[in-house]
Amino acid sequence: MAAGRLWVIATPIGNLDDLSPRAAEALRAVALIAAEDTRHSAPLLARVGSAARMLALHEYNEREQSARIVEAILAGSDVALISDAGTPLVSDPGYRLVRAVREAGGIVSPVPGPCAAIAALSVAGLPSDRFVFEGFLPAKSGARRERMQALAGETRTLIVYESSHRIVDSLADAITVFGAAREGVLARELTKLFETVIAGTLGEIAARVGADPNQQRGEFVLLIGGAADADADAQLAEGRRVFALLREELPPAKAAKLAAAITGAARKALYHVE
Ligand code: SAM
Repeated sequence: MAAGRLWVIATPIGNLDDLSPRAAEALRAVALIAAEDTRHSAPLLARVGSAARMLALHEYNEREQSARIVEAILAGSDVALISDAGTPLVSDPGYRLVRAVREAGGIVSPVPGPCAAIAALSVAGLPSDRFVFEGFLPAKSGARRERMQALAGETRTLIVYESSHRIVDSLADAITVFGAAREGVLARELTKLFETVIAGTLGEIAARVGADPNQQRGEFVLLIGGAADADADAQLAEGRRVFALLREELPPAKAAKLAAAITGAARKALYHVE
């Protein structure tokens, strides 16, 4: 008998209409669904008409449950892995299961969909070509600040998950480490009734959240703009200096091309000087 497959299925982060037709079909087709909180997932499964058996999979029992799931897959059953919300494995259990299925010779396929970090990034308006996802920062302030300190010079946009209990303290710590003037975005309750996206400096965000208890409720993604790239800034300054010198003798396009080649600065950035 051919082995079954593990489907890793993303589910909505709030609005159940965000479940894709392909995800609904996969949830109906499998014999077994591994979920974090089987009661939490029940309404979603009822909505799509899935009659699959459910199995609770948590960080603490992932090893034992993985062995059971691998057995079912090798016996020919298809199994789904879902989280309470969003994409499994992203600050959620599942990587041990994925690894176990693959090591046993089974196939693992994604059914992609919502992820709070990516949904927040998509509306943040912060540079998004490169970013760092840090998941949850430590719960205690000392350890949290230490982790933030290690990220203080990071030039890529930083994305963290945060809970309602800690959002005020985390914003205060972020101000201490990154400075009140650092740009940020706080995305709250995405796709839900009280969805709010606050963009501004960390100081402005903290002031708004601190002044309104409603803004302290729900689920949060905090994005922090990257630190200025000192090397890139210095390279651009040198590019502009060389461009200005060459421009005295050459047409702008040629001067920019040469200045870019000499200094490594982007040619387009030099044109803006003219
Ligand atoms: N695997 C999930 C994903 O793909 O987004 C994340 C799971 S993690 C345990 C839960 C955290 O995700 C929450 O504490 C919050 O930081 C963030 N989150 C989940 N849903 C959200 C929403 N609708 N709006 C903002 N943040 C959300």
